[in-house]
Amino acid sequence: MSGEVILKPGREKALKNHHPWIFSGAIAKVTGNPVPGSTVSVLSSKNELLGIGAYSPESSIRVRMWSFGSAPVTVDQEFLYQRMQTAFNLRERIGYLDDRNTACRLIYAESDGLPGLIADRYNDFFVVQFLTAGAEYWRDAIIENLQTLSGVENIYERSDVDVRALEGLPKRTGVLTGDEPPAEGLQIQEDCLTFTVDVAAGQKTGFYLDQRLNRRAVKKYVQGKTVLNCFSYTGAFSVYALKAEAKKVINIDSSAGANETAGLNLKLNQVNLDRCQFITADVFKELRTMRDKGLGFDVVILDPPKFAPTSAQINAAARGYKDINLLAMKLLNPGGTLLTFSCSGGLDRKLFQKILADAALDADADMTIVEQLSQGPDHPIALNFPEGEYLKGFVCQIN
Ligand code: SAH
Repeated sequence: MSGEVILKPGREKALKNHHPWIFSGAIAKVTGNPVPGSTVSVLSSKNELLGIGAYSPESSIRVRMWSFGSAPVTVDQEFLYQRMQTAFNLRERIGYLDDRNTACRLIYAESDGLPGLIADRYNDFFVVQFLTAGAEYWRDAIIENLQTLSGVENIYERSDVDVRALEGLPKRTGVLTGDEPPAEGLQIQEDCLTFTVDVAAGQKTGFYLDQRLNRRAVKKYVQGKTVLNCFSYTGAFSVYALKAEAKKVINIDSSAGANETAGLNLKLNQVNLDRCQFITADVFKELRTMRDKGLGFDVVILDPPKFAPTSAQINAAARGYKDINLLAMKLLNPGGTLLTFSCSGGLDRKLFQKILADAALDADADMTIVEQLSQGPDHPIALNFPEGEYLKGFVCQIN
């Protein structure tokens, strides 16, 4: 143990509930000068051992817990191995990785008892993110464990995320072990469909693994329909929609590169490109143009990037969500379906639903929620860490 963190009186409740975060304001004293990421004991004001965690001197989340309670625990490579194995076993039990589905999140940070660590498998590559001082401290042990547990040689780092700055860590990317990812992209299978993934430069770790079940959900609503896929990225929703016999799909994304890859993904899955159109534009502007032209669609998909990473941006984010949802509702044909998502951690499901209700009022659309969607089970939500839920989706229909 590199030091002790002693809490202020009355601040032990979160830890007793097994919530893994200790904010700086809850701390009375730190002894022993622990270095970033090293392991500290956490004590109540009455000197009772509440658990052990990773110390992060720069972050307002000053400690992230590895374990709770007064039992002595040693955090070392073996401890991490056990945690990682548990996370792997969970995905195996839910049958989330097999020949038909070769990409999946194997480790989802706090939700898997491994704060700050993300590990996504794409065929014979792992893409990892070390998001916190604690995860960073153990990087060599984690990399070795990943190889031993999975037999996968190729590990690529994508720690190029803004949250690292809050931990005092620089952004970093590159090969950790094994080969460079192929320049033309990796190919993965999802539900027997093929997708090209750019793990070195794509969004997140390359692919929106969290949307797998929601892509499946889309299939129910699109047969013989016209579909507008907004924020389409590499066209994953569109591939599913066209495979499910959508009449026509229009993709809108601001990235020409994403649209190019989307075209490639459609070809890889032998869909008829005549049924597909790509628009490189800002969705906010393009939806207005379409509204002004009086266009209509049977199905609209809205899967924007995070507007509110934390609750600090909530007001601006709420305006953004209302704006695009209102426009989308106006573009729906009678009986049309809206599949709308928010991946903003700072905005909860209840508020998102309220925003949709406000948008529907302003759009003069009488709508009903017919299905509620979330992140896939490879992005599990620990009961004591509700913050692990971030992806909210609603399927709404015009009555
Ligand atoms: N639906 C996708 C993931 C969407 S990610 C999937 O399932 O794979 C968000 C996408 O929105 C990114 O591709 C990004 O390029 C795009 N984007 C961000 N802001 C945008 C804007 N204002 N207009 C259009 N596209 C935008």
